[in-house]
Amino acid sequence: MRTWVEVDHTALRHNLKAVRKMARKAVIMAVVKANGYGHGLNEVASTFSPGIDVFAVASLGEAIQLRFTEKKKPILLLSAALPTEYPEIGRLGFIPTISTLEEAQKFSKAAPKNAPIHFKIDTGMGRLGAHPEQAFAILREIRKLPLTLHSISTHLAAADSDRALTKKQLQDFEDLVSYLREFAPKIPIHVLNSAGTMLFPAHAHDLVRVGLALYGVSPVPKFQKVLKPALSWKASVTFLNDLPKGQGVSYGSTYITPRAMKVAVLPVGYADGYPRQLSNKGASVLIKGKRCPVLGRVTMDQIMVDVSAVKGIKVGDEAALVGKQGNEEITPTEVAQKADTIPWHLFCGVTGRVTYRYIG
Ligand SMILES: *Cc1c(COP(=O)(O)O)cnc(C)c1O
Repeated sequence: MRTWVEVDHTALRHNLKAVRKMARKAVIMAVVKANGYGHGLNEVASTFSPGIDVFAVASLGEAIQLRFTEKKKPILLLSAALPTEYPEIGRLGFIPTISTLEEAQKFSKAAPKNAPIHFKIDTGMGRLGAHPEQAFAILREIRKLPLTLHSISTHLAAADSDRALTKKQLQDFEDLVSYLREFAPKIPIHVLNSAGTMLFPAHAHDLVRVGLALYGVSPVPKFQKVLKPALSWKASVTFLNDLPKGQGVSYGSTYITPRAMKVAVLPVGYADGYPRQLSNKGASVLIKGKRCPVLGRVTMDQIMVDVSAVKGIKVGDEAALVGKQGNEEITPTEVAQKADTIPWHLFCGVTGRVTYRYIG
């Protein structure tokens, strides 16, 4: 194989157990949007399923795909739906995110009687959700409609980076919920994402909406040791080249060999989702357990790596762009940081040209 992603089901199960411990008594809503964070929607959902009672995706299309393997469990749509999608969401029983009375009214007209909805309140994210001062009135009116209220939530804007803001969001939400209880006495409440579940477990309420941690990557460095990254990304060496000192490597000749070098070409580039932003940023891959620096720019289909220190390398040898070899490991977080982005983005950037293999 030229380049492939390997997803380890054993690691996924390990992470689910670890998250369950963090979440204390809360039920885990497994967030499997964006093709299961690039791990494969139906594959990861099936692995999580025995321990999960509710799933979350972004859109109707993702929910329909998940329904093929997840026949019965509730599926919540985290993003706002289009009114044109309401009839199908209602008919299929997916749970839309509702922020306004207008949305609720339109949905109740389009959906079967007592269709489930999820009511969201904006406490600081500035994305979806009722404004807090209107939430009471909106919910009072929603409760008069022929809809079933599945849950009430808010979303943290900076759970891993701003403790003061997060505390304020949690406090505001919980104060508000105590008033909303008048119209929603036993309705489940959810707030926490992965970082929130790690850092604010006392606010787990009934459900936590966990994504990244289930895939084995922690947004909070000190929790990484309890998780196992489930995804490795590999490529086979397709070509070996002995370059003289002073040779430019890749487009723009931004890298010039400082000495004679053995260079391996790997059949993976930004068309596969390996970020072009890794050009000249000190990224490496592993070959035979050794770190091999990426040289010059990442091209569409290929990258060049310095393999001068790798003894006995040959065409067909396996390189890890993300993953473990021997005692060395390149984590999704390391690659994302070098590309000036976040592991969530790296994962969903893997494109359809990459083969998926499942182990464990
Ligand atoms: C994606 C998402 C989550 C999961 O976030 P992680 O940081 O990956 O755990 C939770 N809630 C909402 C509303 C989301 O959009």
